[in-house]
Amino acid sequence: MTHVLHQVSASEGCRVPDQLYTHLHLIEAIGQPLVVTDCSGIIVYWNAAAETAFGWRREEMLGRVVTSLSDHTGWRRRVSRALDVVVREGQWRGELLVERSDGAEATVLVDARRWRIEQEDAEFIIGVAVDISAQKRVEARLRHRVAVQRQRTINLQQRLKQQLTDVRLANHMLSREIAERISAEQKLRFHATLLAAVSQAVIATNLSSEIIYWSRSAERILGWSETDMIGRCVFDLVAEPHDHALIAEMRATVAAGRTWEGEFTLLRRDGTTFPASVTVATIYDEQQQRSGSIGVISDITERKRDRKALADANVRLQQMNADLQLSRDLLYTIVNNLDDALALIDGHGVIQATNRQFARFFEMLPDALPGKPCHEVCPAIAPIVSRTLVSGLKASGRVQVQLSSGAAVILDIHSIPLSDADESRRVVLRLVDITEHLQLEAIMRQNERLATTSRLAAIVAHEINTPLQSIQNCLYLLRSKGAAQSAEFLDLLSDEICRVSGLLRRLLDLHRPGDGSIELIDCNAVIERVLLLLGSTLAGNGIRVERSLAQSLPQVSGQRDALIQVVLNLVLNAVDAMPYGGVLHVMTRVAETSERSSMPWVQIIIADTGPGIASDLQERIFDPFFTTKPHGSGLGLTVSRQLVEQHGGSLWVESVSGGGATFIVRLPATDAAERLRLIADSE
Ligand code: ADP
Repeated sequence: MTHVLHQVSASEGCRVPDQLYTHLHLIEAIGQPLVVTDCSGIIVYWNAAAETAFGWRREEMLGRVVTSLSDHTGWRRRVSRALDVVVREGQWRGELLVERSDGAEATVLVDARRWRIEQEDAEFIIGVAVDISAQKRVEARLRHRVAVQRQRTINLQQRLKQQLTDVRLANHMLSREIAERISAEQKLRFHATLLAAVSQAVIATNLSSEIIYWSRSAERILGWSETDMIGRCVFDLVAEPHDHALIAEMRATVAAGRTWEGEFTLLRRDGTTFPASVTVATIYDEQQQRSGSIGVISDITERKRDRKALADANVRLQQMNADLQLSRDLLYTIVNNLDDALALIDGHGVIQATNRQFARFFEMLPDALPGKPCHEVCPAIAPIVSRTLVSGLKASGRVQVQLSSGAAVILDIHSIPLSDADESRRVVLRLVDITEHLQLEAIMRQNERLATTSRLAAIVAHEINTPLQSIQNCLYLLRSKGAAQSAEFLDLLSDEICRVSGLLRRLLDLHRPGDGSIELIDCNAVIERVLLLLGSTLAGNGIRVERSLAQSLPQVSGQRDALIQVVLNLVLNAVDAMPYGGVLHVMTRVAETSERSSMPWVQIIIADTGPGIASDLQERIFDPFFTTKPHGSGLGLTVSRQLVEQHGGSLWVESVSGGGATFIVRLPATDAAERLRLIADSE
């Protein structure tokens, strides 16, 4: 193809020098768009390749300023700057966006250089353009693809990152869920173990009351196994028909979400029933919807029994309390109305409480006595109280007290030890005013003496009457028969008179007035003397005497007359009990040592074969004036017991109705010291 170079007309602009023209011709041969401007940018050369590339024809472009090729401000600014650079630096290379005549845009790589033609003294700018639009498009596409790819990669990375985060989160949640499951499983296992271990039966039901859980203890308590019961209606267990009202109440309570507690009578597999305490609560599912109920059942048979026993005990206790209160009131009344004066004294001898009689006795107000030392109230009491406090044993004594009224009274003081739970010692003091009693006793003794004396007088009269009648008979015979048989009758008279004088001697012996002094007495001798005196009375009544007197019987100390009187009374009573004859057993023996004394007891036993004494009368016969005899005094045994007790002994009877009566006198044997003292006194 032949390129024709055109010279710009003078009117259109500057002319292209020939020299340049030659070069341009060469450049033209390359076939690239070529534009030549002067230094102000006026186009002076526009080749055919430029026409093709930019769509502008050569005629249109020659003489135009190159900046006016496009209205685009970017173009003008960029081309102006490129022109400046070329003018200044001689070269500019860069890309330009060119607006073609058809409006399409093309990117060209422009290499512009300043060319000076010395001969002409002119400078031109030659710009060679290479259309790089296609390359640019490829590049843009490439860039776009790369960008898209990068964006995709970024998106992918982000998605990956997100997925990784999601996976991590899921992983975390999964591990948490696993941990929760493990913990829930452990809890379940724990609950299952717990349910199996509790003694109460645990039963769960669904909303239709069908059993869905049956614990091992339920099997133990009710007898049915889990296999028997799962699916069955829980109310089949209720034994009592009237419990159905309770069931309705329970259902309503549980349906309202509250816990129900009550008691049912339940049925066991073996048909027996038992009282049960039942607690029922609602079960909720995960959505907090009611899904059933759970019940805990305990067998309360024992609890009920205990409760009943407790109630019974309570009733008994209340009864006892009432009785106790009554007894207390009674005791209070009795104590305060007793004739005896009572006082409670502490371990220091200080009065703690007294009854009314005690206060009355010492003419003081009852409230004034507590807190006072007992020796201040009555000095005679103090030694007896302290004896009990020291020894812990009973002590007693008889004292004469001058009251503030001036009257003298004789008191029997009994001090009784009282050991408290804390081992501290106290004393209950009992004062008995025996002044009147002693006076009465003296009168009674006098009476008994009189009675005994009159009985003795009768016996003596009888005893004397018999020999006197013999004497009278002898005298009569002596007078009527003459001297022939006088010697014989005189002998008889002498015998009878001897009998009378012997009797009187024995009587004198028996009633030799005692001086009341204490002496050593042989009980066997006392018995012999009484039997000797009453010998003919006994024989006359057909009574045989059987003696069984102990050898070497210990002596007792006391008043001989008193003991003779006792034995005489007992033998005379035996005589009265055997009006038609019988056997009188008289015994003495040594009994075992008493706990309180190292000395043995001496016993005198007088037993008859009379009718005996009914058991309900065996104590009453010792009461004063008790007698079953038409002319009896009823004082013999009363006085005898008093006399024996005054000797530190006791007198009692053992008898079976119809089997005779046995009276036992028990006296303490004299100890060595007492014996020595008495022997010394008698000498
Ligand atoms: P008295 O002899 O004056 O009746 P006692 O005091 O000696 O008075 O006796 C009281 C009562 O005891 C007697 O009346 C009698 O009933 C009964 N008694 C005493 N000794 C005997 C005895 N050995 N056998 C049966 N009863 C007896």
